[in-house]
Amino acid sequence: MITIGIVGGGQLARMLVLAGLPLGLRFVVLDPAADACGAAGAEHLCSPFDDRAALDQLAQRCDVVTYEFENIPAEAMAHLAAQVPVYPKPQALAISRDRLTEKNLFRELGIDLPAYFAVDSKASLEAVVALTGLPAVLKTRTLGYDGKGQFVLRTAADVDTAWQQLGKVPLILEGFVPFDREISVVAVRSRDGEVRTWPISENVHQAGILRQARSMPEDAFAQQAGVYARRILQRLDYVGVMALELFCVGDRLLVNEMAPRVHNSGHWTIEGAATSQFENHIRAVAGWPLGSTAAQDHAAMVNFIGAAPTSEAVLALTDVHLHDYGKAPRAGRKIGHATVHSVDRLRFESQLAQLKSLADAVAC
Ligand code: AMP
Repeated sequence: MITIGIVGGGQLARMLVLAGLPLGLRFVVLDPAADACGAAGAEHLCSPFDDRAALDQLAQRCDVVTYEFENIPAEAMAHLAAQVPVYPKPQALAISRDRLTEKNLFRELGIDLPAYFAVDSKASLEAVVALTGLPAVLKTRTLGYDGKGQFVLRTAADVDTAWQQLGKVPLILEGFVPFDREISVVAVRSRDGEVRTWPISENVHQAGILRQARSMPEDAFAQQAGVYARRILQRLDYVGVMALELFCVGDRLLVNEMAPRVHNSGHWTIEGAATSQFENHIRAVAGWPLGSTAAQDHAAMVNFIGAAPTSEAVLALTDVHLHDYGKAPRAGRKIGHATVHSVDRLRFESQLAQLKSLADAVAC
């Protein structure tokens, strides 16, 4: 029996475990929180990510280790990788944890992206604002997620405020993209190099947090997004699932960022695709053949942010599937999601609208 270690015990770990148990796999989850929701159905090593004794235990108990978030200390990953296969390889994590190295990789691979410049002083911020013009987006190079560590500069006076707020750490300034839509492509690569992609998702964010993701099997940008994802996966000799977030602006497709893991915009694949992103990630890291990523029906996911509607209200919608992560409600926290999945377009649209209004009524 194969045992898979997961570094990080949030909802992504939970859904990986839920996908892997029917395949006869065992899981060990490393997370410092005693109530880590990803530890349900797994053995829980309740220790900090940089605890060497816990990392040694994880390596000893597992045949292969994966991770569910980016901000794992590099030394911890190196310590693990010296003892046990880690997929995706820590190189992917090292590149994607820093927006500058990530964007440099995209540029090197001929992938179109917004203008960006490294910023390390107020003078350099002023100089690059002169190049990008306003508006522009100042971002921390590391540790940013769900729109945190970002400041949109709209007027010259914002330069000072943005520098006061973010200037203590390395930054990048990006040109502001007046996008028509945000999309993502979720892709998986097996150990022997086979790549499959799911239909792209069209994503809606509010205050930097994903609220809704909808499968778009016929989208005109799908092919280009898939080409970009393949280039990155091949360059990094990647194993597992990766997501690429992109902006559609006119007829241009610009890459925003990559996530070296399963992704919130791919949650609809649990019900909406032949094989979910979670199962295919597990298959890839276990060294098994990938499953079909086909998805013809209509599918969309709505996140529950801060609070969730009652289970009774959600489950009263007949084509809706509920995922309650078992997390304590807190403002801005992702505590669950629901997926609408239907072959009938009109039914799908109506149930999605009802689900969205249930979620919006309690979100905080
Ligand atoms: P990020 O953390 O880079 O994924 O950014 C979070 C969200 O902020 C994105 O999903 C966009 O909605 C918005 N955003 C980020 N960068 C830009 C940009 N350069 N121009 C316009 N909007 C952006």
